[in-house]
Amino acid sequence: MPCDIWFLGILYFIFASRMKVTQHISQAAGKTLFSFEILPPVKGKSIDSIFNVLDPLMEFKPSFINVTYHRSEQIFKRKSDGSFDRIEIRKRPGTVGICAALMNHYKVDAVPHLICGGFSNDETENALIDLNFLGIDNVLALRGDPPKNEKYFIPHAAGHNYAIDMVKQIENLNKGVYLEDEITEGVKTDFCIGVAGYPEKHYESPNPDLDLMFLKHKIDAGADYITTQMFFDNQKYHQFVKNCRESKIDVPIIPGIKPITSKKQLSGIPSIFHVDIPNDLAIEMMKCKHEKDAELVGEEWMLMQVKDLIKSGAPVIHFYTLGKPHVVYNVMKKVL
Ligand code: FAD
Repeated sequence: MPCDIWFLGILYFIFASRMKVTQHISQAAGKTLFSFEILPPVKGKSIDSIFNVLDPLMEFKPSFINVTYHRSEQIFKRKSDGSFDRIEIRKRPGTVGICAALMNHYKVDAVPHLICGGFSNDETENALIDLNFLGIDNVLALRGDPPKNEKYFIPHAAGHNYAIDMVKQIENLNKGVYLEDEITEGVKTDFCIGVAGYPEKHYESPNPDLDLMFLKHKIDAGADYITTQMFFDNQKYHQFVKNCRESKIDVPIIPGIKPITSKKQLSGIPSIFHVDIPNDLAIEMMKCKHEKDAELVGEEWMLMQVKDLIKSGAPVIHFYTLGKPHVVYNVMKKVL
């Protein structure tokens, strides 16, 4: 083999997996792609726990893998004198490092989530600089939820109120504008920015129209695509896409789906994620005597959702999966 072809081969090997989410979508030219989302392991566990989950799923050649971000929580620890210490712990650290490890281990693109909650703008800038140095050009910009023991989202004193403010910060960095005025010829980053969208409305929004308006503001501020909150009724996704298009939101809208695998989740999912479980699915699950049967009902439902999303031309199907990777594996095996 001539040496320049070798060289091109090596370059391909190094850069082939460095693509933006939007580039994956445009290269696929209408074919539906797949992506997975994982949580960093709880502190004290090794990254092997992630590789064990992903290894079988890599057979389906996901275009990218998202890694969630988890803010720190305040807990109270009893001292020997009976009083309490308030301490801050981050149970699932490591999002940025895991992204780099996934890219290195699987040669797949990684999409780190970044959240506003608990971070100053300066810390966000530093995280973005780390990502840039690691060759990670994708980021999902999120506000984050309030900590478990608080009702309302309170931003960091020097941080962002809403995801749109982080989108603007990333857009600035893409233009070489850093927080410090003294940096006049800063390197321009090249982030592809994803944001969250809610087919069933974000739970804090006064109504769906305002939620859609704020989503459009995020796109107008520079976001390149939307990944949706999970839904179990595909009509809600189709209607959301229609509403977005009518509001001149023209970016790709990636449906996020999650398998429901136990009867407990019939109430757990709506209370945590503020989404409805369709009647047919809920009734079928309630009839199940054993959890294994309930899981099979959930798997069948997800298969139906996936087939419909492919048929309707969804750009990517994003699986919020990985508590139950074998369910996703079974579904993928049947559609590919
Ligand atoms: P925003 O877009 O800021 O919206 C928050 C609320 O404020 C909405 O009700 C919106 O309508 C409203 N709003 C927006 N702008 C304005 C304005 N100017 N004035 C008044 N109201 C406004 N959470 C994590 O902690 N870590 C994760 O890794 C994570 N990953 C996620 C991935 C996806 C795909 C999704 C859908 C959610 C994820 N979440 C994650 C949860 C997310 O952080 C919460 O849903 C959070 O409550 C809202 O985040 P957002 O980015 O949609 O916020």
